[in-house]
Amino acid sequence: MDRAVTRKWRPATQAVRGGTWRSEHGETSEALFLTSGYTYDDAQTVADRFAGDADGMTYSRLQNPTVAMLEERIALMEGAEACRAQASGMAAMTAALLCQLSVGDHVVAARAAFGSCRWLVDNLLPRFGIETTVIDSAIDAEWDAAIRPNTKVFFFETPANPTLDIVDLKYVCDLARAHGITTVVDNAFATAALQRPMDFGADIVAYSATKLMDGQGRVLAGAICSSEEFMEETLLPFQRNTGPNLAPFNAWVVLKGLETLSLRAHRQSENALQIGQYLEPRVARMLHPGLASHPRHALAASQMDAFGPIFAFELDDQAQAFALLDALQLIDISNNIGDSRSLMCHPASTTHANMGAEARAEMGINDGLLRLNVGLEDPQDLIEDLDQALRAANL
Ligand SMILES: *Cc1c(COP(=O)(O)O)cnc(C)c1O
Repeated sequence: MDRAVTRKWRPATQAVRGGTWRSEHGETSEALFLTSGYTYDDAQTVADRFAGDADGMTYSRLQNPTVAMLEERIALMEGAEACRAQASGMAAMTAALLCQLSVGDHVVAARAAFGSCRWLVDNLLPRFGIETTVIDSAIDAEWDAAIRPNTKVFFFETPANPTLDIVDLKYVCDLARAHGITTVVDNAFATAALQRPMDFGADIVAYSATKLMDGQGRVLAGAICSSEEFMEETLLPFQRNTGPNLAPFNAWVVLKGLETLSLRAHRQSENALQIGQYLEPRVARMLHPGLASHPRHALAASQMDAFGPIFAFELDDQAQAFALLDALQLIDISNNIGDSRSLMCHPASTTHANMGAEARAEMGINDGLLRLNVGLEDPQDLIEDLDQALRAANL
């Protein structure tokens, strides 16, 4: 299908049609090409492809038809010129940073972030002579103040995992652009179904597709969206030679997930708002961008279509948090998110355990914090489960 035609389709159409590339058999559902290599009718064909003079597959570290369908669909949904799938969300974050950074560069990153994203910033980048500064991403002036002459990248999530901090996308992307800094936005908590950072000026949008995009807890996957120029000149040389590629099977699973992404993300957001409203009066503190009590509720409403399935809340201490988790009968104890099942976890002892108590305190993760991913179950069943678990935990 002509790209100029598919580019005009609206998001709901992109989600089920974008990137579809039918084989000679005319299959309705996207084909799964489990192949590492390709064969050629003659020697010149392959020579032309290696020389870049002809389109076509040569090796699945470089191209694969199933993976290419996923990449095109994500790019269309994101409003990006280009996308490349990655083996996992962390492969995407690592590639998005390392492909463009060199010794002597400086990165400004949000303090509130997924534990492994903070590990990249705090441990990996400094080992290669890349300076990093972490800031409170919800205070605009901290972004300005952190800029140095060698600042190359701004790296952040919004909403952030697990404290739901919201970054002002327009402010931070404008600031970056004015200083020639590249923004890398980890959009895992929202996806293009709820928030499109490029509409606010973001340069790179990087994903854990393991979460909402798959949406059913099946495969690890990641993606990086960018301009065609960044893709060709910066990411692809890195990716082709280091190989953090997504397997075709996992790409196919995520392709199927994208067909229902918007439906799931919106319904799960509605359910999460309902559960958040129910829980707010019963817990010590609520961290939910969809509730008026969130310090950046209005900003979140202005840059997101809906607030997402994930929020957090605080109980007094770890004993209360564990008592609540252990009393759940429907909601599972699980550190995954974006799943169609409701899942709850205790970040301080799981996703953010490695970073140590001091860094957690700085990020606002206390020992009573619980993170809830609200699924597609009937919200009344979830409320009844939370009610009995709160009572079992004497709350
Ligand atoms: C889960 C997650 C990641 C890492 O993704 P994987 O697919 O698990 O590697 C990165 N950033 C955020 C915000 C996440 O929630």
